[in-house]
Amino acid sequence: MHYQSTRGDAPILQFEDAMLAGLARDGGLYLPQNWPRFTDAQISSFRGASYEAVAVEVISPFLGGAYDRPTLDRMIHAAYANFGHPARAPLVQIAPGRWVLELHRGPTLAFKDFAMKLIGQMFETTLSRRSQRVAIVGATSGDTGSAAIEAFQGLEAADVFILFPHGRVSEVQRRQMTTPTAANVHALAVEGDFDDCQSLVKAMFNDFAFRDNANLAAVNSINWARVLAQVVYYVTSAAALGAPSRRVSFSVPTGNFGDIFAGLVAKRMGVPIDRLLIATNENDILHRALSGGRYQTDGVKVTSAPSMDIQVSSNFERALFLASGQDAEAVCRWMAGLKQSGGFEIPAAPLAALRSDFDSDSASEAEISAAIAQTYRDSGYLIDTHTATGVHAAAHAEGDSPMICLGCAHPAKFPDAVEAAAGLRPGLPPHLADLYDRPERVTVLPNDLGAIQAHIQKEARP
Ligand SMILES: *Cc1c(COP(=O)(O)O)cnc(C)c1O
Repeated sequence: MHYQSTRGDAPILQFEDAMLAGLARDGGLYLPQNWPRFTDAQISSFRGASYEAVAVEVISPFLGGAYDRPTLDRMIHAAYANFGHPARAPLVQIAPGRWVLELHRGPTLAFKDFAMKLIGQMFETTLSRRSQRVAIVGATSGDTGSAAIEAFQGLEAADVFILFPHGRVSEVQRRQMTTPTAANVHALAVEGDFDDCQSLVKAMFNDFAFRDNANLAAVNSINWARVLAQVVYYVTSAAALGAPSRRVSFSVPTGNFGDIFAGLVAKRMGVPIDRLLIATNENDILHRALSGGRYQTDGVKVTSAPSMDIQVSSNFERALFLASGQDAEAVCRWMAGLKQSGGFEIPAAPLAALRSDFDSDSASEAEISAAIAQTYRDSGYLIDTHTATGVHAAAHAEGDSPMICLGCAHPAKFPDAVEAAAGLRPGLPPHLADLYDRPERVTVLPNDLGAIQAHIQKEARP
């Protein structure tokens, strides 16, 4: 199995090197050169199987033999061992034909744990085999950072530097990043917004001298290995609700387009997915792009669903590459337009291809709040603000296939907004009950590439 860049001008890599590289050297994102497909019989066999057993079957065709089966099996079991539910990603019905897929049973209470815990295991295995050490550098709008820190803390082979927008993540999110005590963990509060953090990380990866010298590795949602880990829960939930004989749809709260792209991968692997519904908050660039055909940035709004407060949706490049018939030149042109003038037109053919898989909707702050309140009133079930964007979109969706709304985070991660909407304050699960009492450790840095590079160089272990 080989991996190519969406911009067509980076070395073709095998799985482990694509994972360690994160972003390709031409600025593009890695994708497999061909797509494994399940037979219907295989999908049927996933019904009632454990999450871990399905994960092995979904992930191994993409590895090109990088890890043997016992090793993959061991890593998957280690990754999900401390999730708070034996099904790992259980389904909860909230209305006729509508379900929430709970993806917040991991240690940091958001779906990011699914990918991050596994990629932590994969990094450890690969790097220890190669006697290497890396500096993991990532930008987070909240949940990626805590999941990365949780997954990599204390590892011998990696130092972790997480950039987050100073003052723009929830208190629970911040404390999850600033309270771990392992010496290889570095929480960096940047005086800027999430897009500034993401640009800084991209700039560090495009500075080849720095990148090679500091042995940078990325684990944010552009990393193919993360996307791959997220494919698994689309497969388990579709099988649970009747695939391959019944089609299902998914409503996916979307920021960087990583989670929903994993849904497209599941569909390409033969899972009978009817619609993939892109649910945004007021940062609705993807909804505008799908509806109007122009991808145009428009400033970031601060919302009650901060993990989706994003204006440039990195993984959308992967969807554009596939929708254009793998036209790397076109992708380069569009990305140049984005850089120069903040936007580009999606031509008719790729737009039609995108619309054949995706629908879109956006939720205002009032609609997020109303979705939380109504779900609680109707079913007694409490959802968080991100999940609420998907539940809102699902309520307005067309079609009659069962709708699975991805439950992205535990409501206790965003207690103020949830309490304001539902009139009930969600409590933290027991393993985080003392979070507000733990001492914090954080470095505040200016929105300045040189200052951040110097800090990383000083703190990373050689
Ligand atoms: C990361 C995140 C999202 C957005 O997911 P993307 O993969 O960036 O589209 C939505 N909700 C929560 C809670 C998240 O942590």
